[in-house]
Amino acid sequence: MASDLESKVVIVSADLFRGHSINPCSNLWVGRRPMTAQGDSLLARSASPVCIRGRFHSRLSTSDFRLSTLDSMDREKNKPHDSLFDVAVMAAIRHPLTYRFPPSWPVSTGQRVLVPLATRKATGIVLGPTSKLAPGIEVREALRALDPEPVLSAELVRLGLWISDYYLAPPGEVFRAMLPLRQETRRARRVYLTEEGRQRLHELAASLSEESNKNQDAALLAYLDRRPGASLEILQRKFADAYARALEQKWVTVEEVKKERTRRQVFAVRLAGPLPEHPPRLSPVAKRIIEVLEQQGPAEDHRPLLEAARAQLANLRKLGQAGLIELSEAGRHGASFTLREREAPATVGETPAPRWQAPGDMTTPPQLTPAQSAVLADLLPRLDSGGFGVVLLHGVTGSGKTEIYLHLIAHCLERGRSALMLVPEIALTPAMQSLFFARFGEQVALLHSGLTERERDDAWWRVRRGQAKVVLGTRSAVFAPLADLGAVIVDEEHDSSYKQDETPRYHGRDVAVVRAQFAGALALLGSATPSLESYWNAREGKYHLLKLEERIGGRKLAAVEVVDMRQEFRETHTQMPLSRKLKEEIEAQLRASAQTMLLLNRRGYSWFLLCRSCGQTQRCVNCSVSLTYHRREHRLSCHYCGYSTAVPSLCPACGSEYLHYVGEGTEKIEHKFAQLFPSARVARLDRDVARRRGEFVRVLDEFRRGKIDILVGTQLIAKGHDFPGVTLVGVLSVDIGLGLPDFRAAERTFQLVTQVAGRAGRGDAPGRVLVQTFYPEHYAIRLAAEQNYSGFFSKEMGFRRMMHYPPITALANIVARHEKLERAAQVAKEIGDFFTKVEAQFPGIKILGPGPAPLAKVERRYRIQFLLKSNSRANLHALLKQLVHHSTQAATQPREVMIDVDPVNIM
Ligand code: ADP
Ligand code: ZN
Ligand code: ZN
Repeated sequence: MASDLESKVVIVSADLFRGHSINPCSNLWVGRRPMTAQGDSLLARSASPVCIRGRFHSRLSTSDFRLSTLDSMDREKNKPHDSLFDVAVMAAIRHPLTYRFPPSWPVSTGQRVLVPLATRKATGIVLGPTSKLAPGIEVREALRALDPEPVLSAELVRLGLWISDYYLAPPGEVFRAMLPLRQETRRARRVYLTEEGRQRLHELAASLSEESNKNQDAALLAYLDRRPGASLEILQRKFADAYARALEQKWVTVEEVKKERTRRQVFAVRLAGPLPEHPPRLSPVAKRIIEVLEQQGPAEDHRPLLEAARAQLANLRKLGQAGLIELSEAGRHGASFTLREREAPATVGETPAPRWQAPGDMTTPPQLTPAQSAVLADLLPRLDSGGFGVVLLHGVTGSGKTEIYLHLIAHCLERGRSALMLVPEIALTPAMQSLFFARFGEQVALLHSGLTERERDDAWWRVRRGQAKVVLGTRSAVFAPLADLGAVIVDEEHDSSYKQDETPRYHGRDVAVVRAQFAGALALLGSATPSLESYWNAREGKYHLLKLEERIGGRKLAAVEVVDMRQEFRETHTQMPLSRKLKEEIEAQLRASAQTMLLLNRRGYSWFLLCRSCGQTQRCVNCSVSLTYHRREHRLSCHYCGYSTAVPSLCPACGSEYLHYVGEGTEKIEHKFAQLFPSARVARLDRDVARRRGEFVRVLDEFRRGKIDILVGTQLIAKGHDFPGVTLVGVLSVDIGLGLPDFRAAERTFQLVTQVAGRAGRGDAPGRVLVQTFYPEHYAIRLAAEQNYSGFFSKEMGFRRMMHYPPITALANIVARHEKLERAAQVAKEIGDFFTKVEAQFPGIKILGPGPAPLAKVERRYRIQFLLKSNSRANLHALLKQLVHHSTQAATQPREVMIDVDPVNIM
């Protein structure tokens, strides 16, 4: 068989795997067949050999395949199809799996289906039809469709597969991340009586027994008879032993279902039309359903209908498939734009948040400045001319970038297209949300993780159904199901929160660019401190660079002064978090009733608890880090895994009572400053505050209204806010960041200082910035103080070039990890051996490691690291593909080998 395949190879749904090299052991496809079949998505213009079940190996090349395959598949969804489909199963499986679908099913790309996986059931996304499998391969049958229509468009399926390929992530995990969270993650196990169980119940009911076992059995079976589908957990609690017996005797069966689904999903149902002359033979239940529909008219909600017709949802589905009735989800998502969403978008907790008030009339755009007009004059024609392109907007803080975004979006809407805008943290941009709602009203949908499942669901479906054409959201909103996308905007594109730090480890900004490419849309990346990657791309001519070099209204950038804390220490002999200079300035601010922001890049009260007798610090049991003291809870907690423990009164290591709190976090500064400046109203904004719903919107709102004098916070206060009353910004310290063994440390520090400095002087009064540091001559601090981006760019690029770091090279971080150190070491050794074996094939790739990761243990798992630097991205990708293949063969679990492409954090 091998030999004749070699010459005539056909690739199934090649478009799906564009750019992939197909893994030898994957069963994604395959077969050989003449390529004449009509309406078929199989394309075989290539005669080059590709791998089939491990026999051959070669890369698929893009040019060989038609690009529009998926779209055409989507259109052809109701045509008869082959019964084999590739499905990305939502599990940690490295490749799609093939399932057989009953020919009567209307299956299409992007549809959610339930499939068997080993001994359980799993949700999957249909990728596309596949050809017949080679003989001898057994294919299992899919169980059922989960939605009446595909949830993902062909474009999004394509994007998901791109992510899966580029980031080497299991496709199912990618699609899980792409869809709103509902249902997929929650499972309920429901229990039903079997025929045997029913019989047993009759027997037991007939015989009056004194045996307690039998009585319990009877009670359990009777309970289930009354409540079919009772939850497993409840049964176990109520009838512990009897339940175990019943399971053993096969009186009951357990079915895994999606919890939310059964509870919430509501279909609207109506007759598809008058019944045909010769109706198909209908079952009694089908007859009842049709009768009820004829008598009562269309049902908004299928549940009363089911009751009236004594039917089940499956009966409805069958009738739907037979074309006699129509099922739609409309009833459930009909809820339109809610007031709550309009008024308090960031908080949906129990207590209503104060309504955000932005100054002035937000519905009418201001008169654009000449600089803004010039940018738009360049930008808008790019949108109109159609086609993909990327523009980097480098605009200093306060230069009016937001207005550019809003104009671009308005322009999209005028052209009947949709627009997507990503922000790093939606909850921190209530002003932005208000502006969006003021300008675009009900066309706006918010998508972010702060929503309840229900709200996210509603927003998602409003977008899917085309009711909302503007999406404002965080990272995962890049997957918003918008059709006909005109522009994708990424605000604060340098922000590291765009990178997801769990599988799939995608970068929201980079995915946004690819999405724009697939959609033929314009991508606009904006920042005052662009990432080195984006600025480099602009320099290289890949991105078009636009600039806003002046602040609105001719305002000056704040003057920045660096305070040398070494000298401060020499002169005062005290290790104070606050220099004399900054203290004086704050006092002056208070006298002038002006507002101050203070940045400290560490939350909590004290950094750690140190024993003065033995020198031990209290460490996390799961991670190799010290625990941070939080005073409000009076507990020590881990900032990596969330572990928390009571504060010991004696050192657990040596029993000493001399425990000492070291360092200060934002909580302590807030506390101290309230004492130091008794007349001042001091508040704090960091992730601990952000966790309390409604709290940070309240803090931001009060600060904006001048009810807070001093706002202490972490980098959260540096992000994009526009508080005109702030005239002093103090940077207490960013030195911790500079000291990290991470090649991005300087870039991050530069961005942070520049951004926080950019919060000062946005109103009529000029702003001042004081930066305290022990490294006053460090270029990141110095150039940030000068607000000299291009100076920093050149300097930092020199460093990256010398050290072979991005954007000069492509980088990947590989971490072998396991709860047992031996296993982690073994996995690392396998990887190391593999690299040694193939190294010669990839001369342009530098492989560093193995070595313990800077964070040697996180969440109980030991971590051993490799860092790969490559002067060719294609080569790096090829090597990583081989690594994944190798790991699959070596039976290494995906979770044991973390692959992070373009890592942002290499700790
Ligand atoms: P950036 O995002 O570039 O830091 P913003 O978009 O927040 O800047 O704009 C800074 C301030 O200038 C905001 O208060 C905004 O309302 C205001 N602004 C923007 N464009 C104009 C304009 N054309 N005329 C008057 N004010 C403007
Ligand atoms: Zn001790
Ligand atoms: Zn921990």
